[in-house]
Amino acid sequence: MESNVRVRFAPSPTGPLHIGGVRTALYNYLFAKKHNGTFVLRIEDTDQTRYVANAEQYIIDALEWCNIPFDEGPGKNEKFGSYRQSERKDLYKKYADQLIETGWAYYCFDTPEQLDTHRKGHEAEGKTFIYNWHNREKGRLVNSLVLTDEEVQNRINSGDNYVIRFKTPQDEVLRMQDEIRGDIKIDTNTLDDKILFKGDGMPTYHLANIVDDHLMEISHVIRGEEWLPSMPLHVLLYRAFNWDAPKFAHLPLILKPVGKGKLSKRDGDKLGFPVFPLEYTNKISGDVSRGYKEDGYFNDAFINMLAFLGWNPGTEQEIFSLEALIETFDLKRVSKSGAKFSPDKAKWFNQQYMQTKSDVELTDLYLPILENKGITKDKEYVLKVVASIKERAIFVNDFWDLSSYFFKTPSEYDAKASKKNWKEGTADLMNKLINVISSINDFSSENTEKEIKEWITGMEIGFGKIMQPLRLSLVGKLAGPHLFDIIAMIGKEETVKRLKNAIEKL
Ligand code: GLU
Repeated sequence: MESNVRVRFAPSPTGPLHIGGVRTALYNYLFAKKHNGTFVLRIEDTDQTRYVANAEQYIIDALEWCNIPFDEGPGKNEKFGSYRQSERKDLYKKYADQLIETGWAYYCFDTPEQLDTHRKGHEAEGKTFIYNWHNREKGRLVNSLVLTDEEVQNRINSGDNYVIRFKTPQDEVLRMQDEIRGDIKIDTNTLDDKILFKGDGMPTYHLANIVDDHLMEISHVIRGEEWLPSMPLHVLLYRAFNWDAPKFAHLPLILKPVGKGKLSKRDGDKLGFPVFPLEYTNKISGDVSRGYKEDGYFNDAFINMLAFLGWNPGTEQEIFSLEALIETFDLKRVSKSGAKFSPDKAKWFNQQYMQTKSDVELTDLYLPILENKGITKDKEYVLKVVASIKERAIFVNDFWDLSSYFFKTPSEYDAKASKKNWKEGTADLMNKLINVISSINDFSSENTEKEIKEWITGMEIGFGKIMQPLRLSLVGKLAGPHLFDIIAMIGKEETVKRLKNAIEKL
């Protein structure tokens, strides 16, 4: 049964979704599912100057790839009207008006130039200009707290540009509760009177966010730490409207691998890891940012890794399926302090998940890569290759490097290994080996191993003298799984061909 837990992920479509945003979405999703609640996606696009056309689709695609679908959102179960704020535009004015009527907000007509003059004047005296109780009624600022009703009406009617500001209550110590941070206190005299509504007919983030959270019956606001400074205003807005406030939980930042400062795209570029879930092309600059998906991460490994950036289950266990995360997730175990991002740990998670994937699943991922290289081998063959290499792979994209020799004759030989292992006399030995191999009938791994080893023993020479040059001939380097498995896989003809090739080239 659906509970009354309703949470929302409310991104602004200003560009690709940073992994910090995906983590916020994930924690909202986990919390909702854990409590049989509803996970809402709301697009907060009231700031038209920062709007990026393909960003909304990017967000939707990212949530889909992460396998954390929203229950309500743009185009899906739109129970509360549009889930895009720009399409709810007409709704907000009446709430701004309501706050004016009840004395919780006021009109301001100060021009940008006037405000700039105030700002500069303050700076010259080493002070900071804040629009609030200090100065709002002193007469220097042009607002409805000092103008007569008639003057205000005249200005509005004659098309003067205005904004509506919140009238922050004075001399109050505001006490608030955060689900992660506990009790928070703030002196309201330190707050500025934030703009709620702009002359262009658009609400600001603060007003739209509160109105929509209320109308969409949001029970818990779970969002990034960067919104903590907005919490006092939001709590006061709920009071002003006489609405019950939701519970708040502010998530810790995701920090750079060095531990200080917020993880940025630049860190990723510098150290070579993605900070976005999916690849993103900036339509204006043409810049392409890499994504976890395209880098070869499994979505479940990515989600598991993200879940641990700021939360832990309180046990040693690190591998959690999405279902297990839902069951175990608890806001009480989200940390207050920032979570350091580790590119190595991200890879570790992928490697762990690699081992849990079935050979068939991995083969299906490898086949198109092979096809792209013009290699057509039957699935059974590829399946065996995958089984023999997956243990050493972090990404499916590593498969080719780890297994190319199963599909083609090496075109070059590792120089150092050749120097060390291909000596005078090696070519002779390899020619003899060709004869031995040619006479073997049962070409199974076990039998070739038996027959070749018997031959080596009979010659009374060290195994290395044969095995190393043989490996070099077949693989091109001293790597790869059990040599006789490779021989059995590629077959007699190809084994002989590769030996002849090496004799000629080395
Ligand atoms: N639109 C805000 C953002 O871009 C939402 C903040 C919130 O969740 O209240 O993150």
